[in-house]
Amino acid sequence: MHPWLAQRTAGFDSSGIRKMFALGAQMRDPINLSIGQPDFPVPAAVKDEICRNVQADRNGYTATEGILDLRKKLEGLIDTQWGHHPNRRLMVSSGTSGALNLALMALINPGDEVIYFDPYFVMYPALVELAGGVSVQIDTYPDFQIDVEKVRAAITPKTKMIILNSPSNPTGVCCSEEAMRGLALLAQEKNICLVSDEIYSHFHFDSPALSPLKWNPDTLVIDGFSKSYAMTGLRVGFVHGPAEVIDTLAKLQQFTYVCAPAPMQWGAITALDLDMHAEIDRYRQKRDTLVAGLQGYYQLTVPGGAFYAFPKLPDGCSGEEFLERAIAHELLIIPGNIFSRSDSHFRISYAVDDRTLDRGIAALQKIARG
Ligand code: PLP
Repeated sequence: MHPWLAQRTAGFDSSGIRKMFALGAQMRDPINLSIGQPDFPVPAAVKDEICRNVQADRNGYTATEGILDLRKKLEGLIDTQWGHHPNRRLMVSSGTSGALNLALMALINPGDEVIYFDPYFVMYPALVELAGGVSVQIDTYPDFQIDVEKVRAAITPKTKMIILNSPSNPTGVCCSEEAMRGLALLAQEKNICLVSDEIYSHFHFDSPALSPLKWNPDTLVIDGFSKSYAMTGLRVGFVHGPAEVIDTLAKLQQFTYVCAPAPMQWGAITALDLDMHAEIDRYRQKRDTLVAGLQGYYQLTVPGGAFYAFPKLPDGCSGEEFLERAIAHELLIIPGNIFSRSDSHFRISYAVDDRTLDRGIAALQKIARG
């Protein structure tokens, strides 16, 4: 380790995902099922609005909490969906990641425990560690559903936060209504902050979107425009929750990210008027095509949302061996142990055009046949 580097950078490793990107860059025409972003472009109306604002010189700092029009519009939508709560405040953040980082920084003292579910989004262990917290991972194999009694048993006097991500990256599984209600009420009973990462909130295929906010008004909800409107590079997210917590996140944002990019916030206002149902339906169809294509070849919990599937590796095959076989077929997937303590599954992103998806399914079938 370079002598300049701080100790806090040593504990986590991003080499797995970087290796995938490097491999992809070397291949001529890879079947790339490893990418976690939509394949559709930013909607034209959003692009136009961003360009218009750049040209109109609206490129300066905005209020730390975000442009008032955007906040008002988001607050209106949240009130309509989940009911008004007088103590709820909202802040626009620099992507969902920005809000997640600020939430950990604002709420976690060194040694505090943070519960989240294995398999997990790769950022969670890293952010907990950067905040000086301790990760407590709860196993959700084999069906990736949350057992609220397991969570109750994992709670200690040091438990400060529970992070829920539904629909989930990497499994695509949606938390059942019963488990979500149980988790929401448990967090309330124990006075623990429940962070609900709802970045895939638009991508529910079989049931309406659900949030623990329905049962626990103190839930800290984090969402954003990256996936719903394909705005991953434009860095606009938002976080809402108890007023005093949001005020503290805003204080930290002022001294770190400052604000989300101004023209992108104007674009986000336009995005909120758009109907994305056609894109979501397209993703439902892709999910169905993938599930049908893998049937009989891989064990798979049918994903109800996001744009991922998390099949089981063939018997006796490690993630690394499977990746080698995949690469031999020009296929890029991500081994499950990047998202988990278990090396038993792999992640497919089906956010790709239909030709790539068909090629991917054919390659996966060939690999399974051996
Ligand atoms: N949370 C989850 C579960 C994600 O999968 C991602 C991105 O892949 C993020 C947060 C970060 O999203 P953003 O681009 O808004 O920072």
